[in-house]
Amino acid sequence: MVRTGIGYDSHRLEAGRALILGGQRIPFDKGLVGHSDADAVAHALTDAILGAAAAGDIGKLFPDSDPEWKDADSLQLLREACELVRYRGFIPRQADITIIAERPRLGSYFPAMAEALSRATGIPVTSLGLKAKTNEGMGFVGRGEGIAVIAVATLESS
Ligand code: MG
Repeated sequence: MVRTGIGYDSHRLEAGRALILGGQRIPFDKGLVGHSDADAVAHALTDAILGAAAAGDIGKLFPDSDPEWKDADSLQLLREACELVRYRGFIPRQADITIIAERPRLGSYFPAMAEALSRATGIPVTSLGLKAKTNEGMGFVGRGEGIAVIAVATLESS
């Protein structure tokens, strides 16, 4: 049996924070704000994988009221979510991710992001799609106030 899940995440951009996406530290004058490292790529993918298994969501598993997840490495949260779905009998097989950001340009970081996401999920890099789009200047993304990510993941019954 094949199951599909969708995940969405967004975080505000602020000066004085590191920009971390897909586990990569990306040089930029702003970074994403959050309780964890605010890696919206890891968060959207985590929700897609959890959603495919009907296993809740990232906020339920790793509540931001819990000091344990303060500045947490979101790849570790992704790894733990994959362990949970494996325990429930599902194997992550494939994911497709779209990052919506007006700046910076992200394409050159995709190979490193795919490697990191592959290590965390067990999904082969050849089955991890990564894309980036601007929002054509519209809305909070267009104004450079934040970054949004949409992810879809496919799991197979083990
Ligand atoms: Mg998030």
